[in-house]
Amino acid sequence: MSNKNNRRQFLKILGATSLGVALAPKDVFAQKRKKSCVIIGAGFSGLAAAYKLKNAGWNVTVLEARNRIGGRVFSQTFKENPNLTFELGAEWVGESHERLKSLCRDFSIPLQKHQFEDYLLQNGKVSRPNEWGFSPTAKAAFEKLIKGYDKLTAAQKTKLDRYDWWTYLEKIGFSEDDLRLRDLTDSTDFGESIRHVSAFAAAAEYAESSPKNEMDYKMTGGNSRLAEEFAKRIGAENIRTNTLVAEINQLGGTVSVVTAAETFKADACICTAPINSLLKIKFNPALPTIQTEAASRLIYARICKNSVLYDKRFWKAENFSMVSDTTSHFYFHSTQNQNGTQGILTSYAVGEKADVLASQSDERRLKIITRDLVDFNEDSPKLAKAISSYAWQRDKFTDGAYALYRPGQWFGIRPILQRPHGKILFAGEHLADWQGFMEGAIETGEAAADALIR
Ligand SMILES: Cc1cc2nc3c(=O)[nH]c(=O)nc-3n(C[C@H](O)[C@H](O)[C@H](O)COP(=O)(O)OP(=O)(O)OC[C@H]3O[C@@H](n4cnc5c(N)ncnc54)[C@H](O)[C@@H]3O)c2cc1C
Repeated sequence: MSNKNNRRQFLKILGATSLGVALAPKDVFAQKRKKSCVIIGAGFSGLAAAYKLKNAGWNVTVLEARNRIGGRVFSQTFKENPNLTFELGAEWVGESHERLKSLCRDFSIPLQKHQFEDYLLQNGKVSRPNEWGFSPTAKAAFEKLIKGYDKLTAAQKTKLDRYDWWTYLEKIGFSEDDLRLRDLTDSTDFGESIRHVSAFAAAAEYAESSPKNEMDYKMTGGNSRLAEEFAKRIGAENIRTNTLVAEINQLGGTVSVVTAAETFKADACICTAPINSLLKIKFNPALPTIQTEAASRLIYARICKNSVLYDKRFWKAENFSMVSDTTSHFYFHSTQNQNGTQGILTSYAVGEKADVLASQSDERRLKIITRDLVDFNEDSPKLAKAISSYAWQRDKFTDGAYALYRPGQWFGIRPILQRPHGKILFAGEHLADWQGFMEGAIETGEAAADALIR
């Protein structure tokens, strides 16, 4: 997940400008009848776009392939304890996520505190939050990088983008031990080892969110509440689930969106499909080769979330979290500020570890995750009651959790993917300045809607 105030500029220049250029001639939208838009995807991006267009008087139809709305926002409860909520998709709302916070205010969804202090479990040794950290050399080098970030020129940013985060940190003085620790902590942000992450995307994440870290709140009752509130306002009759878009045709000023059962015609289309789904849609006229090639180079991070219900909250601290070198990787208390004796700890495994957990049965996953915790508390296996997991790299609509911009790709392919195709505008987390966040999904959806309304 990367973060972005400076990069918001970038979206405005490269995204919004090009959206405007590619929009249909003004007379198409100046007709007296209501304008119409088909929106592909009922994740936060598609729902935010539909909500904005509907408020501006447009007819909207949202087509969603899944049997539910919300996309990568997926709040859950256990049948063994329906009073406790946990998230198998997006988790945190950041203090800087202004649009998300204001929508929650408008829709009366209270935010609750969801901040943590990390323990470290390494080679079987548990260190408390204030007992571990980086070497003084690494700390100083990191601080210098973050302080200098604002002064980087465009050319320097592009150069930084060519490095991977591991290599760049090594170059500025991180030791092997520091790098391994950094890999454990930062890979939970990007969903893959920092060996695969653009150094620019990583530096921007930490510099632009400093001193905050974008892990501040979650929505009381579950993040899916926002999807439900959007849907109420858009109108259930305008949202079709179980509706996979196979083809989009543009002819004579009309966009025709084709599904197995029906064809939807509109003045414009906003497509929020994640890249692997987008590549399966047939475009007529075809997308430019440069755009399909850019799309085929973008991969998504592997994340497997595993929430375990325990009879007792043996971790005691409300803000308990722990980074570890085990397969389970990162643990955090999902039921912080939720009353009850039972509690939920979620394991957030990334990269290869996510693949290992994904290939096990629930029973074996539960064993691995609770045994990995024995160095912290030996009772954890016997206190575990139930497990619920989701491996996003196996999700057929996203093939991963969120986009992973590898070295050279932030400036190399992202601007190409943002380009509209005739009257089809693209939106979604993968194109956002707040890439990897709900905030980014909403901002790009709203930006696409704005470009049509203008
Ligand atoms: C494990 C995990 C942890 C995360 N943690 C956080 C976090 O802590 N904080 C945060 O802010 N964000 C987090 N995110 C990211 C956040 O979930 C996403 O940025 C955001 O939800 C993406 O919204 P979207 O609308 O762009 O995409 P999606 O939610 O993926 O919506 C796109 C929709 O399009 C549908 N679709 C695809 N193809 C078609 C088709 N052909 N026809 C019809 N429909 C189609 C899909 O089914 C999907 O529902 C996390 C994500 C994951 C997976």
